[in-house]
Amino acid sequence: MKNTLIVAGNWKMNKSPKECVDLADRITSLLSDIKGIQIILSPPFTGLNEIQLKSPFYKAAQNCYHKESGAYTGEISLNMIKDCGATHIIVGHSERRSIFNEENDFINHKVLAAIKNEIVPILCIGESLHERENGLTEKTLYEQLMGGLKGLSILEKIVVAYEPVWAIGTGVSANKDQVEQAHNYIRKILNSIDNKHYTPILYGGSVKPDNSNELINITEVGGFLVGGASLDADSFVSIVNEMRKIRRN
Ligand code: PEP
Repeated sequence: MKNTLIVAGNWKMNKSPKECVDLADRITSLLSDIKGIQIILSPPFTGLNEIQLKSPFYKAAQNCYHKESGAYTGEISLNMIKDCGATHIIVGHSERRSIFNEENDFINHKVLAAIKNEIVPILCIGESLHERENGLTEKTLYEQLMGGLKGLSILEKIVVAYEPVWAIGTGVSANKDQVEQAHNYIRKILNSIDNKHYTPILYGGSVKPDNSNELINITEVGGFLVGGASLDADSFVSIVNEMRKIRRN
């Protein structure tokens, strides 16, 4: 049951620390009365410590290394992320899978380390166009989900994001039927692991103000992971406002 909707903005490798602060300030000042909606802002590492947020606004890191400390040049631990005030972390994003060759086992280490450090992982999964066209969507979702969640039997503090790779940053969102089918399938798998806890399933892939209303009304869509449209305060806030309409119904 979706009591609280979630909308997370993934700013990717954009914005200076000052621009991060300005964007976060503008978003928070434009949004009041957002009962029932949790907003997660995910700046690059250099902006993570700079932005200051109060509930129901939360911060997410975009990546981590699963080890606690040591000789891992260029990496950032979960503890460091927590010290910056982050409560969530995006893991398994398709850009990390495709550009940085991250595989399910490696992603699973991050999920487990995040949980150990009381940071909520937002586990991203999604099929490529090739996989969809070859009837491999469910197989891919199953492998990425089971691989990412390996070793867990309680899914209490986890968020899953369904992000079809072909819809990310392309301006072409998955349609209502495609989202409905994928989310229902993901829910079935999540329930087979733990049917006592509700794990929100976000949709991500070219979410914009004009398609957010239709998508948020799909039963198993618990919110959105937004990339491009989260870089502009007005479009991000418009998406949240579309979500508020169903909160008021
Ligand atoms: C993303 O990067 O997670 C994403 C969904 O991007 P966009 O909204 O730009 O498609």
